[in-house]
Amino acid sequence: MVQGPPVDVRRVAAALGGRSIVLVGMMGAGKTSVGKRLAAKLGLPFVDADAEIEAGAQLTIAEIFERFGEAYFRDGERKVIARLLNSGPQVLATGGGAFMNKATRDNIAAHGVSIWLKPDIEVLLARVRKKSNRPLLQTTDPERTLRQLLEERSPIYALADITVEGRDGPHESVVDMTLRRLAEKLRGSRAERRKVEVPLGARAYTIIIGRGVIDEAGLEIASIAPGAKCAIVTDAHVAPLYLGRVEASLAKAGLSSTSIVCPPGEATKSYAEFARVSDALIAARIERRDIVIALGGGVIGDLTGFCAASLRRGVRFVQIPTTLLSQVDSSVGGKTGINSPHGKNLVGAFHQPSLVLADSGSLDTLSEREFRAGYAEVVKYGLIGDRSFFEFLEGRWRQVFSGGPARADAIATSCAAKARVVVADETERGERALLNLGHTFGHALESLTHYDSARLVHGEGVAIGLASAFRFSRQLGFCSGQDAARVGAHLKAVGLATRMRDIPGLEVDARDILAAMRQDKKVERGRLTFILARGIGQSFIARDVEESSVLAFLKSELALPPD
Ligand code: NAD
Ligand code: MG
Repeated sequence: MVQGPPVDVRRVAAALGGRSIVLVGMMGAGKTSVGKRLAAKLGLPFVDADAEIEAGAQLTIAEIFERFGEAYFRDGERKVIARLLNSGPQVLATGGGAFMNKATRDNIAAHGVSIWLKPDIEVLLARVRKKSNRPLLQTTDPERTLRQLLEERSPIYALADITVEGRDGPHESVVDMTLRRLAEKLRGSRAERRKVEVPLGARAYTIIIGRGVIDEAGLEIASIAPGAKCAIVTDAHVAPLYLGRVEASLAKAGLSSTSIVCPPGEATKSYAEFARVSDALIAARIERRDIVIALGGGVIGDLTGFCAASLRRGVRFVQIPTTLLSQVDSSVGGKTGINSPHGKNLVGAFHQPSLVLADSGSLDTLSEREFRAGYAEVVKYGLIGDRSFFEFLEGRWRQVFSGGPARADAIATSCAAKARVVVADETERGERALLNLGHTFGHALESLTHYDSARLVHGEGVAIGLASAFRFSRQLGFCSGQDAARVGAHLKAVGLATRMRDIPGLEVDARDILAAMRQDKKVERGRLTFILARGIGQSFIARDVEESSVLAFLKSELALPPD
């Protein structure tokens, strides 16, 4: 029976993105035999939950039922399945009753794609008749019992992601059908990927956003650079979490790779690491047609991008950002660089990536504090030019934090906003300055806390900066008090500080802050450039803000009680 072109098993495996396949359905539905064949095709291990339970208990399922009862068995089953689901991608066959348990269903939804093997009742009866060891069928009328069970359970089995209707015939055809359904389903979920294009002519590239995008790195990179040699640069926090997945994905797509691990932290954006990484790339024989991959936060992205920009006068690089800040900000736009003892980002180059893969799922392992700090930059895009995005965040920020689809939406909207500004002004001669909303205040605060991340990280400074920029805009008469208050309220709702007075132990007066701002900005005849706002989503560049009004504002801010 031909049903169209053969399924590309490699693509299905890649699109699974580290998730397991979990087979559910009645006893006798063929979960074990179908599961084994499916696993072999996809190159995944096959695990039978019932067999695991029996091995663990050193008893058969029938014996566990007999000695301890069904409730005891169900509890053990739930635990065993939870453990198995946590042990990496696999094809898992579950016992007939397992999916009835809500906790197990939720767990399966979090880690895998569930498939209900729904056999024809007659086939089921025939198969079950042959085997008499099913504890639930030890009744006077096993056939009736089976029908009853099926009727009871079907509505719950139907909650599975995919249903495969069985028919009499070889398991092979069920396997084929299952793969087809899986491919369709995953194509659907690939369509849930958000794509943002950065149309920069010869330097144009795509940003792909979604859960599991990391596992598609091989396919995506192979499509822009077939046969390229890859070098992955990452840091020691990220390597144990995601390096293996990137390497495996590259290998699956037939791309060879080497990796270079840097120490985590801002100090890695140094001349010394620049030299070390560049030499490692040369030693790995990365040439003009090859690809350098930055896997990590903004520190790794900035350093790696700069290495790629200068290696052999420029090789292509791919960003796989793993912090919220890097996904919505630093990985897009092509600014790369390192720090000098004279200051941050003083040595660098504009070098656009060839591809950005933002795996929204990778943020699950980020600390709450880093996530929140990155979120300030997300809010910034709403405040600059998209009031409805700000309102979306007000309503949905909890889902953004918890990792629901709203997170990928927020990342995509942020990237699109940044991309628009970058395309209009690639090398920051004008409009790109809008992206500095909140940053004049933020940078001053970072400098006054001596870039001590224990006291203040960039995004936390930006949050205070955003709220301050709106209060300042209000004080200057540009923006309503209502909008200024709303900005502060939202940032506060997610747990970000909004006032300079909130920074613990910051013993400074208004003149100190002004002096720190002067270092960040060029001051012309006592006037500073600020990004101000006429309201939420209506920011503008103000090039001639009097120092005296800045000073007056800072004084009023410091006089406020802590929030
Ligand atoms: P970072 O790269 O230092 O990452 C923060 C911390 O999180 C690090 O300890 C890192 O190891 C860890 N980490 C990263 N991903 C993780 C994950 N998925 N799970 C657990 N831990 C993870 O910092 P950042 O905030 O991503 O980036 C800050 C840097 O970005 C600064 O150097 C800044 O100058 C730069 N930046 C550049 C641009 C640009 O346009 N190029 C824009 C904004 C910021
Ligand atoms: Mg920033």
